[in-house]
Amino acid sequence: MSKTRFIFVTGGVLSSLGKGIAAASIGNILESYGYKISILKLDPYLNVDPGTMSPFQHGEVFVTDDGAETDLDLGHYERFTTTLTSQKSNWTAGRIYEKIIQKERRGDFLGKTVQVIPHVTDEIKAAIFAIGKSADIILVEIGGTVGDIESLPFLEAIRQIGLELDEAQTLFVHLTLVPFIKTAGELKTKPTQHSVKALQEIGIQPDILLCRAETPLPADIKKKIALFANLKEEAVVSAVDVETIYEIPLIYKKEGLGAIILKKLKLKSRQDDSIEWGKWIKRVKGLSRETTIGIVGKYIMHSDAYKSLFEALFHAGVANNVKVKLDLIDSDDLMAGDPEALLKNIQGILVPGGFGIRGIEGMIRAVEYARINGIPYLGICLGMQVATIEFSRNVLGLKGANSAEFDPLTSHKIFLKLKELKNIENMGHNMRLGAYSCILRKNSLAYKIYQQEKISERHRHRYEFNPEFEYMLENKGMRISGKNPERNLVEIVELSGHPWFLGCQFHPEFKSRPLQPHPLFVSFIKIAKTTKSNA
Ligand code: GLN
Repeated sequence: MSKTRFIFVTGGVLSSLGKGIAAASIGNILESYGYKISILKLDPYLNVDPGTMSPFQHGEVFVTDDGAETDLDLGHYERFTTTLTSQKSNWTAGRIYEKIIQKERRGDFLGKTVQVIPHVTDEIKAAIFAIGKSADIILVEIGGTVGDIESLPFLEAIRQIGLELDEAQTLFVHLTLVPFIKTAGELKTKPTQHSVKALQEIGIQPDILLCRAETPLPADIKKKIALFANLKEEAVVSAVDVETIYEIPLIYKKEGLGAIILKKLKLKSRQDDSIEWGKWIKRVKGLSRETTIGIVGKYIMHSDAYKSLFEALFHAGVANNVKVKLDLIDSDDLMAGDPEALLKNIQGILVPGGFGIRGIEGMIRAVEYARINGIPYLGICLGMQVATIEFSRNVLGLKGANSAEFDPLTSHKIFLKLKELKNIENMGHNMRLGAYSCILRKNSLAYKIYQQEKISERHRHRYEFNPEFEYMLENKGMRISGKNPERNLVEIVELSGHPWFLGCQFHPEFKSRPLQPHPLFVSFIKIAKTTKSNA
């Protein structure tokens, strides 16, 4: 193919319409036509990245192989397409301004006045073009809603790109809402009209409108929207509510979105292959048996905080022909009474990642319950740490054993900051971020699951297992079955004599995809579905 195409996805009316999933679905459709894609997200807020934001505010921080802490939409991109995101895939206004201010301080602007246009917009354009030329089509999602003050420089930047490149090289897709107003018994197009007008005022004429609605838009409504938006009717596409988000690419395709994108970009489909995806959706729809997993965490009121985790469990459920039902348990509630009352209905316990001391003791109780009752247990990052702490306290008898994060004064520091560990230099960054390799011990549960000796998984944590306790743990039946070879850091622990008990310092959930479910989750659900709850 000659020239790289760019598809810009903006959102109107209100947030939470699923712009990330829409962009990911477009990526999925284009891949099904045989095109190579890249996707990036531009977020207009001023934090340099979401790494320091609360999960309650921002939801999950998605981690890439190269250690970028990014927006959770990048998780959708990786799950819906075959792309691997990176540091180049997520830019916030904060990160753009940080670069500009560094340049300004260095004197790079040679005395000129530094302004939003052209300096900020140029930096945004550079970020878009930096994603590289290897893709046929580059998708760019703009965070926020059209009309926000902070998104203006981003919209101006993409307007300029539209002007600079050939007409068939760029495409503007706008996602809006067409609400059904019960009292009037009507679908209302006015919010969409206003949103398109706001875009046009900035100088962007959308090429395609994706209209979120409860049911498909009738022809007269499409006609009306098309007229006000200065579009042909075929460019107004219904985006209806669905049972499973993974069905969206197929539904969009049926609605003609794929065809119109190709037409506007003057491209032909090289193939049309949604077969595997379609088969998988059929399996999802045919699931009837349920397996209940208890998630014991502290952000459970905000399910976005565990986005990739929930998706990974869902994928693993499909692989095992079961619907995974999540029982979200606030770890603090486990301290209030008998854990049996809250955990008796579940067939597997999972303690996910987290930061800070709140809820830790409740998680330790959940681990104890799983260990003693032979309930399958999967501990991820913090969940691995609490599993090791529980074992140290209750099996090794190390009173007050803890992580330095929660009790810096304990005499039994099972987890320490990396820089405090002997012979290990501070890595410069205060977290271990991104992909690290891990060597699995032969004959371990982990080895049986992965079926290979060397794996690579993504990390996001500050504290590491303290090797002083290695011998004691091993001696009493907690096996260290995975280690990072470069720094000899403990990556996986498991319990001998337990049906299925594994804690990993990394986050396997970031690498699970519908058609390639993660082996750890698949194995966990496989054992959980045959486990009888105590109810
Ligand atoms: N708070 C722990 C640490 O920093 C665990 C982090 C996590 O679960 N992602 O090491």
